[in-house]
Amino acid sequence: MTEIFDLAIIGGGPGGVAAGVYSARKKIKAILITECFRGQSAVSSDIQNWIGDISVSGEELHNRLEKHLKHYSKDILIKEKETVINITKSNGVFNIKTDKSEYGAKTILITTGNIRKKIQVKGAEEFEGKGITYCASCDGPMYGDMDVAVIGGGNSAFESAAQLSAYAKTVTIIQRSDFKAEPMMMEKVLANPKVKGVTNVEMLEIKGDKFVTGIIYKDKKTGEIIELPVSGIFVEIGSNPSVDFIEHGLVELNEREEIIIDPKNQKTNTPGIWAAGDCTNGLYRQNNIAVGDAVKAVEDIYRYLKS
Ligand SMILES: Cc1cc2nc3c(=O)[nH]c(=O)nc-3n(C[C@H](O)[C@H](O)[C@H](O)COP(=O)(O)OP(=O)(O)OC[C@H]3O[C@@H](n4cnc5c(N)ncnc54)[C@H](O)[C@@H]3O)c2cc1C
Repeated sequence: MTEIFDLAIIGGGPGGVAAGVYSARKKIKAILITECFRGQSAVSSDIQNWIGDISVSGEELHNRLEKHLKHYSKDILIKEKETVINITKSNGVFNIKTDKSEYGAKTILITTGNIRKKIQVKGAEEFEGKGITYCASCDGPMYGDMDVAVIGGGNSAFESAAQLSAYAKTVTIIQRSDFKAEPMMMEKVLANPKVKGVTNVEMLEIKGDKFVTGIIYKDKKTGEIIELPVSGIFVEIGSNPSVDFIEHGLVELNEREEIIIDPKNQKTNTPGIWAAGDCTNGLYRQNNIAVGDAVKAVEDIYRYLKS
């Protein structure tokens, strides 16, 4: 018989950590299961809107979040490097299956955030991890003095380009329509002579041998086919909610696969399951919001468990 917890928190980003700290302090018998203690902004070189810090790197912020939660490791069971793959319910108890074990819980809080979208173009699957990557701050240093491209045109793409310009010989930002990043950020990044922006592009193929050697794209305005030699491709085209482990019908999802919650208390349509942060249909995606939503959920779960 698997041990039954009062609460299972899934995810170790800002939302999951906040929920873990609150439930430990409330002495809820809880388990937190996460692949890692890195939320999406862990890759940011400079976060300037984390309340209480004028500026903090993503790495530093996430180290502090992890440390804060682990301060309570006597009061909450922490399982990291573990991926939840399935949740079922029987006899009023949820069974959470991971790639390593199984756990029982009376309530669940899902804070699994988002995962990156992949590019759909010839060669993309073949060169995944062989020059195609998703993290400028993690992998950027490997492309020292090389030509690289960033695919995308939002803030994340420009942020990655700024980071990459510190190492790479050239950085080309390739976007299928117009750029959508904040004007001030675009101006600053494109002012760097190493960085070039190309808009209205149709990607045709990623070429390579053992590793990426280039991108073939069509200029949608002129119809010209261009081959851009690059050794690295950093993909920044958005993300999808990380909800693969949710089987059809467990909780209601919208057309974008976001978990539908009641914004008053973060409840899903399934009694006993709450969700918070970027995996939900909440309108805004921010660290502070994920934290606040998760705290709201734990307050509600505490009430539910006591009632
Ligand atoms: C490049 C970038 C920069 C950003 N900069 C800022 C910023 O400056 N300020 C700001 O406020 N926001 C910023 N954001 C947004 C912010 O990062 C998110 O709103 C926030 O991370 C959401 O937190 P979360 O806890 O909901 O999810 P996430 O941060 O996505 O964390 C999800 C966690 O769940 C884990 N997980 C996922 N699936 C499973 C599974 N099946 N089993 C176990 N664990 C799982 C993951 O490993 C991860 O630990 C940025 C986002 C990006 C992409």
